[in-house]
Formats: sequence, structure tokens, C-alpha cells
Amino acid sequence: MGSSLLKGSEMAGRKVKMYTLSTCSHCKAAKRFMVDHGIDFDYTDVDLLDGAERMRAIREVRAYNPACTFPTILIGDEVIVGNDESRLTEALGLREAGGGMTAEGLYEMLRKTQEPKGYHFSDDRAHVFDLLRALIKNKERYGYMCCPCRLAADDPEWDSDIICPCAYREADVTEYGSCYCGLYVSRAWKEGGEERRYVPERRPAEKIRF
Ligand code: SF4
Repeated sequence: MGSSLLKGSEMAGRKVKMYTLSTCSHCKAAKRFMVDHGIDFDYTDVDLLDGAERMRAIREVRAYNPACTFPTILIGDEVIVGNDESRLTEALGLREAGGGMTAEGLYEMLRKTQEPKGYHFSDDRAHVFDLLRALIKNKERYGYMCCPCRLAADDPEWDSDIICPCAYREADVTEYGSCYCGLYVSRAWKEGGEERRYVPERRPAEKIRF
């Protein structure tokens, strides 16, 4: 049994749902694309299902994509077959009219997805936009949005703990009210109800690759 629902998802009111295979490199790349862009999504690894669940999932995929190929991605009413990053970028509203992603576009996208989870942008807007531009730069450099305040290994598997939002954000915001970089803060921190302290590095030193 392997229905792999990651988390409830909504992108500007449009749910993102993917039918995938756990073994497929295109499906893995599509999942990574969503993670790298801070998109909440649900996915079902159809190959991990058995019996009636598997049949139901195959029927669902066929209804959207008669060839039943993977990944089959639903963004609201739009169906995207395959890991077509250009179409995904358009459908998710990641591209501005002029072409590449802008800090303003990223700000709006992340604000909509992260605030409902209790993660707010710092009130230091200049600092926030510096970090957002750095995230976009790291995406261009490495292919993933590595934390701007940490040394990347240029290896997405190795750096998976520091792809923004990093694995340490929850603990940092809970304990200090802010993530390590000062991009995401708690509501109390933002409203001045929490002491603003230095956030020490939580990532183990062994993760720095020489
Ligand atoms: S410390 Fe903050 S900015 Fe850096 S990756 Fe974590 S959440 Fe993102």
C-alpha cells in the first residue's frame, strides 16, 4: 500500500496533485521542482499501490491522460503530462512577463504558501529581498534554492537539508522566533513580541563538504 500523500496543497487556490512512480527519474525531478519552488503538493506513487487502490489510481490517471504515463500532474484544472518545467513554470505562475523569476514574484508565492503555516517574512523588507534574490541566484547556480547563508556542495542530495525552507527552520523559529538567515520569523517575532536574538547554526559541522 503506497498512497504517498505528502501534504495538503493549494497554490493560489489551485491544488497541485501528481500521479507518479516511486522509481521514475522524471517523477523524482517533478517532485524536486515543486520542493525547490516552495510549492505544496500531493502525490501518489501509483507503483506502490495494490489491488483496488491501484486500479482506482490508474482509472484516475487515464481520465486525465489516456496514455497513462508518469508523471501526470494536475494544477487546478490543467493537466501537464511529463516533467515539462516550462509548462509547470507557467501554470504555477512562477514566471513574470519578462521571463525569469523575480524576487517580487517569489515573495508573493512564498507569502501565500508559508504564512498559513505560521512562517512570516521578517519586517526588514530590504533584508528579505536580499535573501530572495540570493535564493534565485542559487537556483540559477545549483538548480535548487540552497540557503543563502550556507555553503552549498552543489549536490542536491547532500544539500537537501539546506534547500529553503531548510530542515532547521521549524526548530529555529520555535526556539528563537527566526530562521538562521532571518528570512522567516514567527508572528510574535514580527510583531515585536519576541526578543530578537542571534540564531546559532544548527546544521552539523560534518555537513560542510570540503
Ligand atoms: S535558514 Fe531561512 S533562508 Fe536559510 S534555508 Fe533555512 S528557512 Fe531558508
